[in-house]
This record gives sequence, structure tokens and C-alpha cells, in this order.
Amino acid sequence: MSTLIVEGLSVHYGGVRAAHDVSFTVEPGQSLGIIGANGAGKTSTLKAVMGLAPRQARRIGFGEHDLLRAPAHTLVRRGIGYVPEGRHVFPGLSVEKNLLLGAYTGNWKRTPIGEVYDLFPVLGEMRHRLAGALSGGQQQMLAIGRALMCRPRVMLLDEPSMGLSPILVEEIVTALKRLNGDGLSIVLVEQNAKLTFDVTATCLVMENGEIAATGTSAALRVDPQVRRIYLGL
Ligand code: ATP
Repeated sequence: MSTLIVEGLSVHYGGVRAAHDVSFTVEPGQSLGIIGANGAGKTSTLKAVMGLAPRQARRIGFGEHDLLRAPAHTLVRRGIGYVPEGRHVFPGLSVEKNLLLGAYTGNWKRTPIGEVYDLFPVLGEMRHRLAGALSGGQQQMLAIGRALMCRPRVMLLDEPSMGLSPILVEEIVTALKRLNGDGLSIVLVEQNAKLTFDVTATCLVMENGEIAATGTSAALRVDPQVRRIYLGL
């Protein structure tokens, strides 16, 4: 079992400061949400953990692994799954081939594809369809399923609810809760604060690249300022 530790993470794109001194810890089986407005630095933080954005940090570690020195493509083998913003499925390949590509990491053990079809039955029904022919919600399920194929121990998800209808958002919430209940650690970046509070136990609120508040999701859900800014209440 491994803990994800991020300490003093900053991201700069040239002169643009996207994240500054961000720190958090995700224990095995824990679920952490990162909410904030457009441009708050959520995506940059997640990408930087994955080694996909220019970063500086005192420490980024997962269990005994030092992720600051690990090339991005090796993170999957360390048990870190990543579902990027915008899904990025391979539109010209079948659903099943997209999933099998997710399992292709050389020597890492893979999840039986049936487990993904059990979580998202629609993917099983459409396994021979081209991924490009799926709806946005189905593509999001495929992106999550693909990340699951490497049997991750922690999963980083960037805006999985983007562009989805409320019913599909509910399906994604149910799936994420089930995965977390089965012991998978989750880091969920979202503009949709309600969804995030539904899925995660604790949350960070980001503003202008920094952590403006942290707390349990239950406490943040009833915090008057959070309700006003992020829930529009
Ligand atoms: P969103 O919800 O819109 O994805 P976010 O909270 O994820 O927002 P980021 O995408 O991390 O925020 O962006 C943080 C800041 O960094 C913004 O000011 C953004 O314009 C800037 N930024 C992001 N990516 C780049 C890039 N590749 N080059 C330059 N600036 C960038």
C-alpha cells in the first residue's frame, strides 16, 4: 500500500505562474478532491504530478518511488492511473482495443477486461464499436476504464464530468465511489464541486494557483463561502 505525497509543488509556464507551493497527501484508499474556478491551477497541478507540466517541488513520491525523478511513462507501472481532461480516447480503434492499449505497459499486471465491463456495462455492449462513435459520457467511461486496465493503486482524474448530462455524471459518481470503496485511492480535479463532495472525503480549494482552503468534503459542502462561490447558493 502506498501513499501519494506532494510537497511544495509549483508550476510555471514561462512567466505564467499556474501553481504555487501546493502540498497534499493521499493515503491508501483515500479520496481527495481539488476544486476551484477556471484557471485556478487544478489541471496544472495534476499534470505536474504526472510529470507532464514544467514543475518544481520539494517532493513528489508514491510509496518508495520518487516521482520527481521518474519519467512520466513509468508512472503507470508504479500504479498511478491518469484520466486526462478531454478523455483522449483513440477514435479509430474499437472500445476493446482502447482498453487493451491501456493495459500495454510491458510488465505490469493488468485488470481483467471483464472487470471494466462489469463497472460500465455499456462498454461491454459496445466493445466492437469504434470509440469515436461513442457519446461523450461513454467516452469518459472508456477513458476511466482504460486507466483501470493497468490495475492502478491511485487514480488521478481531471474533470470527468465535463460536458456530461446529470444522469451520466451520476453514473460516473457511482463508479468512482465503487472503485474507492474497493480500495483505489482517488484524486479528483473538478469544477463541479457538488460531484466532488459526493465522491471524496477531503478537498482542497485552489485559487490563483494556491491552496485557499482544505477540509473534509462534508465541512466544505456547508461552508457559506464555498457554497456561495462554488455551488452558486
Ligand atoms: P480549468 O478548469 O479551466 O482546466 P484549471 O484550474 O485546471 O482550469 P489550469 O489549466 O491549471 O487551471 O491553468 C492555470 C493557469 O495556467 C491559467 O492561468 C492558465 O491560463 C495557465 N496555463 C495552463 N496551461 C498553460 C500552458 N500550457 N501555457 C501557458 N499557460 C498555461
